[in-house]
Amino acid sequence: MEEKLPVIAIVVPCYNEEQALPFSVPELLGILDTIASEGLASRDSFILLCNDGSRDRTWQVIEEMHLKDKRVKGLSLAHNRGHQYVLLAGLMTARNRCDAAISIDADLQDDPKAIIEMVRLFNQGKEIVYGVRSSRASDTWFKRTTAHAFYSFQNVMGLETVYDHADYRLMSRRALDLLADYGESNLFLRGIIPQIGLDTAVVSYERNQRVAGESKYPLSKMLSFSIDGITSFSARPMRWIFITGLVLLAIAVLVSIYVFTSYFYSDHISAGWASIMLSIWILGSLILIAIGIVGEYIGKIFTEVKHRPRFAIRDVLWD
Ligand code: UDP
Ligand code: MG
Repeated sequence: MEEKLPVIAIVVPCYNEEQALPFSVPELLGILDTIASEGLASRDSFILLCNDGSRDRTWQVIEEMHLKDKRVKGLSLAHNRGHQYVLLAGLMTARNRCDAAISIDADLQDDPKAIIEMVRLFNQGKEIVYGVRSSRASDTWFKRTTAHAFYSFQNVMGLETVYDHADYRLMSRRALDLLADYGESNLFLRGIIPQIGLDTAVVSYERNQRVAGESKYPLSKMLSFSIDGITSFSARPMRWIFITGLVLLAIAVLVSIYVFTSYFYSDHISAGWASIMLSIWILGSLILIAIGIVGEYIGKIFTEVKHRPRFAIRDVLWD
């Protein structure tokens, strides 16, 4: 008996992409043809274009494309929520209608040909396949440097992310089901998905220029995205306050010894110097330690309120 081929969904977030879609959709349809004709995926595979409350004609363009080719599906948010949220909306909509979903930006800066390799790896049993940029030569120097600073800073802050991977990835239905258990409102998918676990793989590709239109991620949005990522995943900055307090307390002890010896053995110290020095050092470090302790508790609250799943079950053998 012939094995059933998987239905693949390509989920595309679109914000003001009326110029890019006429280029990218035919290319993605071509990829669907390729994976179907190579026997990697079902002919029922589809593209889900997710409109993020665009202000231009993006939604009309999506409607027209849907009428022309039923493999093009559409979803429209009621307002602009941002890339991460519209992507989640798309993945959750596709989840019960596909065997695996691949998310890719509408501008096709991430080489769509990598989809073929992703699907191949999925067919070999990989549940999450990360697209990783092997080169960013086509990005401006500024974009490249800020993006790399962004990845390094996240790692320093204790975030487990995949280096140079944006949101171009394949997720199996099981991975999508596990993702659905994360109910947090501050969404940072690149931090959540590595936490899911499962069998993963990486496909690398070269990043291209935008096919049309311009970037919807200016520096201000990148910065707030980065801060969101760190504050949604790491309580490490609070731990640092606590440690700084302890280090300062150790220094304060040394300073106190110095102050006392000067006080008793030196005859030219100004009045009030000793008491001010002691107060500044000892009180300063005690205050930092106190803030750090409060921070440790807030860190606990922070992880509790997220109600993240405490475990993810991959398989159960019964009977
Ligand atoms: N996007 C979105 N909502 C937004 C901003 C961007 O859905 O509020 C989409 C956009 O249409 C594109 C993807 O997110 O498909 C990535 O945006 P862009 O290519 O502008 O970012 P860059 O590649 O420059 O970082
Ligand atoms: Mg882009």
